[in-house]
Amino acid sequence: MPAAPLPIDLYDWFDTLTSGENDRRLALRAVLERDIAPVADHAWDRGQFYFDALQGFHALDPLAHYFDGTATNRALIDGLYSLELARVDPSMASYFGVHGGLCLGSILLLGSDAQKAEWLPQLRSFAKIGCFGLTEPDVGSGVARGLTTRCRRDGDSWILNGEKKWIGNATFADIVVIWARDEADDKVKGFVVRTSLPGYSARLMTGKISQRALASGWITMENLRVPESDRLSHANSFADTARVLSAARIGVAFQAVGCAMGAYEHALRYAGERQQFGRPIAGFQLVQMMLVRMLGNVTAMLGMALRAARLQDEGRATDAHTSLAKQFCAFHCRETVQLAREMMGGNGVLLEHGAARLFTDAEAIYSYEGTNEMTALVVGRAITGIGAFV
Ligand SMILES: Cc1cc2nc3c(=O)[nH]c(=O)nc-3n(C[C@H](O)[C@H](O)[C@H](O)COP(=O)(O)OP(=O)(O)OC[C@H]3O[C@@H](n4cnc5c(N)ncnc54)[C@H](O)[C@@H]3O)c2cc1C
Repeated sequence: MPAAPLPIDLYDWFDTLTSGENDRRLALRAVLERDIAPVADHAWDRGQFYFDALQGFHALDPLAHYFDGTATNRALIDGLYSLELARVDPSMASYFGVHGGLCLGSILLLGSDAQKAEWLPQLRSFAKIGCFGLTEPDVGSGVARGLTTRCRRDGDSWILNGEKKWIGNATFADIVVIWARDEADDKVKGFVVRTSLPGYSARLMTGKISQRALASGWITMENLRVPESDRLSHANSFADTARVLSAARIGVAFQAVGCAMGAYEHALRYAGERQQFGRPIAGFQLVQMMLVRMLGNVTAMLGMALRAARLQDEGRATDAHTSLAKQFCAFHCRETVQLAREMMGGNGVLLEHGAARLFTDAEAIYSYEGTNEMTALVVGRAITGIGAFV
C-alpha cells in the first residue's frame, strides 16, 4: 500500500465547510474514536446500549446549534454529527437522531412557549432523554392515513390508547412525543408524554439484527391521561408531523454516508493487511474494483448530502430534495457495506473486523424515516406530478 493512500474525501467535499463546521466534526470524531469505538461491538453483541460511555459526547453540547438564533447551518451541523456518529456506530446515531432531531425538533417546531421552556434545556443537556413515537405494529409507511392510536379530549386532559413499535430510546426515555388520531375530528395530534404516567409501558424489542445496541421499544398506552398543557399546541394535522420528519430525513442521509465511510475505511485497511497467494488482496484487480465502487459511492453520497443540507439551511429544500438524499444515500450505503463485507471473505461476518456491524446496521438506515420505496415515491411524484403511493 502507498505511504499516503488516496483520501476518502477525494473531491475535498469537506473543504466546502467553514473551519468552525469542520472543527466541530473533527472534535466529535476524536471523542467517538476514544469513547465509543472501543465499546460498540460488544454493545451490539449484547444488544445493550452503553450509557457509561456517553459523558464525553454529551459534554460536547451536540445540540447547541438548535439554540443558536444566528445559526444558518443547523441542518448541516446536524448532518455532520449524524455522519460521524454512524461512521463509528449507527446505533449511537439513532440514539442522537431520535432524541435530537425528532423529539427536541418536534417540541421546537410545534410546542408552546411553556413546553419549550420546560423541555428544551433538559433535552439539550441530556438531563432528560426523549424519543419519538409514530410507527405502530400494523402501520409503518402508511401512517399518514392509517394511524390507529387514538386520543380523546376529556375535560382538561386527553385519553390516549394504542401501541407504538420500533421506538428508539423508549425503554429509558423520560418523555416520548406520541402521535395519535383525535376521535373527534380525525386529525393527527402530538403529545409530550411523560413516561412515568400510569397507563404507559414500554418493553425492549428483542431479536433485532440491525443496530442492536439501540434500545428499540414497544410502547403500550392504556387509558393514558395526558394534560392539555402537554399537547403540542402547534401540531394540528399529519402535515405538521411530516414537517418534523422531512427536516430529520437529511440527518438519515448523512447516517448512510457515515456508515458507508466507516465500512470503506475498514475494508481498505483489511485489503492492505490480508495476504492471499503471497500478496495483499489489495493487489488483486477484482478487489480494486470493489474499492473503486465504494469510493465512488461515498464521494457521490457525501456531495449530495452536503448540498441537500445547505439547501435545507437556505430554506430551499423541498420534500423531493430531502427524500432523494435519503433514498440515494441509503441505497448506495447498502451496496458499499455489502462490498466491504464481501472483501473480507469469512472475516466479513465477524464483528472484530469492523464491516459486519455496519453491514447489518445499514439495513435499518435503509428502512427507517421513509423506506427506500416510500422515499422513491415522494421523488417520483415530484418528477411526474403523479402520486403512485396506492
Ligand atoms: C432500527 C429501527 C428504528 C426505528 N426507530 C423508530 C422511532 O424511533 N420512531 C418511530 O416512530 N419509528 C421508528 N422506526 C420505524 C420505521 O420508521 C418503519 O420501520 C418504517 O417507516 C417502515 O415501516 P414498516 O416497518 O411498518 O414497513 P411497512 O410500511 O410495512 O413496509 C413494508 C414494505 O412495503 C413497502 N411499501 C409499503 N407501502 C408501499 C407503497 N405504497 N408502495 C410501494 N411499497 C410500499 C415498504 O417500502 C417496505 O419495503 C424504526 C425502525 C427501525 C428498523
